Amino acid sequence: MPFPFDNTYARLPEAFFMAVDPTPVSAPKLIRLNHELAAELGLDVARLDSAEGVAILSGNQIAEGSVPIAMAYSGHQFGGFSPQLGDGRAILIGEVVGRDGVRRDIQLKGSGPTPFSRRGDGRSALGPVLREYLVSEAMAALGVPTTRALAAVVSGDQVYREGMTPGGVFTRVAQSHIRIGTFQWFAARQDHDNLRVLADHAIDRHDPEARDAENPYLALLEGVIRRQAELVAHWMQLGFIHGVMNTDNMSISGETIDYGPCAFLDIYHPAKKFSFIDQQGRYAFANQGPIAHWNLTRLAEALLPLLDDDQEKAVALAETALDAFPALHQNALQRRFTAKIGLEGGSASDWSLAETLLSAMDRGEADFTLVFRHLSDALETGNDEAVTSLFKQPETITAWLSVWRSRMQGIDKDDAIALMRRTNPIFIPRNHRIEAAIQAGNQGNFEPFHRLHKVLQHPFSEQPGFAEYEAAPTPEEVVPATFCGT
Ligand code: AMP
Ligand code: MG
Repeated sequence: MPFPFDNTYARLPEAFFMAVDPTPVSAPKLIRLNHELAAELGLDVARLDSAEGVAILSGNQIAEGSVPIAMAYSGHQFGGFSPQLGDGRAILIGEVVGRDGVRRDIQLKGSGPTPFSRRGDGRSALGPVLREYLVSEAMAALGVPTTRALAAVVSGDQVYREGMTPGGVFTRVAQSHIRIGTFQWFAARQDHDNLRVLADHAIDRHDPEARDAENPYLALLEGVIRRQAELVAHWMQLGFIHGVMNTDNMSISGETIDYGPCAFLDIYHPAKKFSFIDQQGRYAFANQGPIAHWNLTRLAEALLPLLDDDQEKAVALAETALDAFPALHQNALQRRFTAKIGLEGGSASDWSLAETLLSAMDRGEADFTLVFRHLSDALETGNDEAVTSLFKQPETITAWLSVWRSRMQGIDKDDAIALMRRTNPIFIPRNHRIEAAIQAGNQGNFEPFHRLHKVLQHPFSEQPGFAEYEAAPTPEEVVPATFCGT
C-alpha cells in the first residue's frame, strides 16, 4: 500500500465529519513530491512517485485503506462567529503513524466540493498551492512547528478566481487537523458528549500526559496555551505574519496551519500586515500574541462544560489558565529576541536593548532579516557598515550599536556569533520571490519554484550561487499585499 492508513478520526461518531470522495481532475501532473517527508512517514515513495501516486495525490484515485472525509468545524473569522465552516475544499484521506511513532493526517486541499463547500467550488488555485508548499517547508527548515507539504499537483483544470487561473491540489501533512473551531462546533451545538469525545481524542494525540492530570481537560487547555505562546513568539522571531488567525486556523497541536495570505516582513514595522482582506490590521505582526490569547479564550469557553460541573469553578479554572498566556508569550519573545542580538537568558534589560533596536529599525525603514543577520558579521569583523547601510539614516542606529558593543564586552564572541547565526536566518521566503515563483508556475515553468524551495531548505547557511535570494526587494519589487486566493 502507498499509505499504511489507520484512520482514528473516521472512527469517531458521525457528528464529526461527512464522508465524501475527492472529485477527479482532468490532467494531473506532479510538480513536486516530498521524498524525505514521505520516507519519514514510512510511505512507499516509489509508488507515490508513479502514475498511481499522482492519481491518489490529485484525488483521481482513492488509495487502499483511505476513508475520505470532510471534517466539521466552526470558527471566529475576524471576530465574528460562523457556526458552520468545515472542510469546504479539503478532504482528509487518512492517518499514518510515521517512523517517529507520531500519528499524522494526510489531507488533500483543492480536491473538490464537500457538504461544507457552501458557494465555494472546493478547488484551489495553483498559486496558493505553491505558496503553501514553499512557506510550510521553509518554516519546517527554520525549525518552526508546522504542517508539512507532501505533494503539489497541477490539476489540468482552470479555476475561476479574479479570472481564470490554473488549478492545483496540495497534499498536507499535520499532526492533526483539530482546530479551536472543532471544539467550537460541538460547543455551539451544546453537544457535550461529543465535545468530551473530541477532547479525549485530542489528549490521546497531542497531550497524552494530560490523561494522568488531576483535571485532564484543564491540562489539555494548558498544553494548547503553552504551545501557542511559544509558536507565535517563534513566528515573530522570524518576522512571520500568519495573516488569518481565525479560530478555525489555529491548531490544537501547536503547529502553524493554513498558509493563506501569510508573508514575512521585509522592512520592520510592528503594524505591518499583508492580507488584503485584513483591512483593520487585526492580524498585523505585533498583534499576533494578543490575538492568539483572544483565540485561546474562545477555546477555553468551548471547553467550560468539561472543566467542572460547577460553572463558576469552570470559569475560574479557565481564567487562571488563560492568565498564564501573556507571561509565557512574553518570556518566549524575550528569550528569542535577545538571542537574535547574541544574548542568552532573555533578561529584562537585554529585552529592552532588543526593543530599542526594533524601534530604530522601524524609524530607519530597515530590513528585519538583513539587520539581524548582519549584526553577527559586524561583531565578527568589527565593521558596522553592513548594518548601518541598511538604515535610511545611519545615525538612527550608530548610538544603539555602541551600547550593544559595550553590552557584548565580556561575552564570548564566538558563542554569541554562533547563537545569532542559528537564530537569524539568511534566507526567508520573501513575498516577491514567492510571487515570482507563482507567476512562472502559472505559465507552466516550475524552475523558480524549485530553486526557491532549494535555497529555503538551509535558511541559516551561506549558499554560494543563491545570493540573490538574500536581498530585500527593491522598491519596484515589493509585493505589498497578499490574497487568500481561495
Ligand atoms: P480559510 O479562509 O481558507 O481558512 O477557509 C475558511 C472556510 O472557507 C473553510 O470552511 C474553507 O473550507 C472554506 N473555503 C475556502 N475556500 C473554499 C473553496 N474554494 N470552496 C469551498 N470552500 C472553501
Ligand atoms: Mg482555514
